[in-house]
Amino acid sequence: MGFLFFSDCQHNLKSSQPYQRFKRTLARVRSNKEPENKGEVYAGNLETIPYTKRKHFVLFTKSTEIQAGEFRIQEVRRKFKDDILPPEHPESIRVHSIGTKILKAMQRELKLEEDYNRWEILILDQPAVKASSCIGGKITITTGMLDRHPTDTEIATFLAHEIAHVVARHAAEGIKLFGKKLPIYNKPSLILLPVLRRLEIEADYISLHLMAAAGYDPRIVPQVYAKRTKTGSGLCHYLSRTHPSRKKRARLLSRARVMKEAMAIYQKNNGTQRQS
Ligand SMILES: [Zn+2]
Repeated sequence: MGFLFFSDCQHNLKSSQPYQRFKRTLARVRSNKEPENKGEVYAGNLETIPYTKRKHFVLFTKSTEIQAGEFRIQEVRRKFKDDILPPEHPESIRVHSIGTKILKAMQRELKLEEDYNRWEILILDQPAVKASSCIGGKITITTGMLDRHPTDTEIATFLAHEIAHVVARHAAEGIKLFGKKLPIYNKPSLILLPVLRRLEIEADYISLHLMAAAGYDPRIVPQVYAKRTKTGSGLCHYLSRTHPSRKKRARLLSRARVMKEAMAIYQKNNGTQRQS
């Protein structure tokens, strides 16, 4: 359930349009110059994250994020070209349906001017139990994840978590926090780990609300996290270092105040959504 920073493909990004735009934005921020487009660039400005209401800084526009995401997803398509389920595959249809339900609920609840075209979910036919989001709205989920968590509500839990990372613009915040040398994400440090874990907890909180708005019972979510078991792979070890423990995540989401909020949203929306 990680989210892929811009840095993930930094090596290949250097000559790309989004990276060059990002560098120009950084240069403007550092020199206090006006952005190219005042209406879009709000580098260094404060934004409020939905639901948690935490204020954070972001360094570039959503359109730059979207372009970076397009670049990233092309990389993913090239790398996994033989492992991507076709759109007409029953599992693709099911996952896309769940994702669409969450996105529509998000738009309804948050009154967003949302461009659906920026969102894309790729299902990778791989045994790893993994879901990831990329800057700008690109999400991947593996068939290993679908096998381990077969119900729609479980899938919604992980999709909503990845969507939450994107909506909260965590990738943009990471760049602000860690400056120019983005590959730091690949070598988590004692300073970085608490920040990454905080972002995971925030994404969990947001996703609980998004799921509830989409008509998925939020009371199931702590059980879903509790169900996740160690695979013994390097990936799991990696997640254990950058993510809070599953036990802690389940406990935080089970808190009475948090669940009460989510249940209020769920009950409000459950009449219009068909629960799975
Ligand atoms: Zn995450």
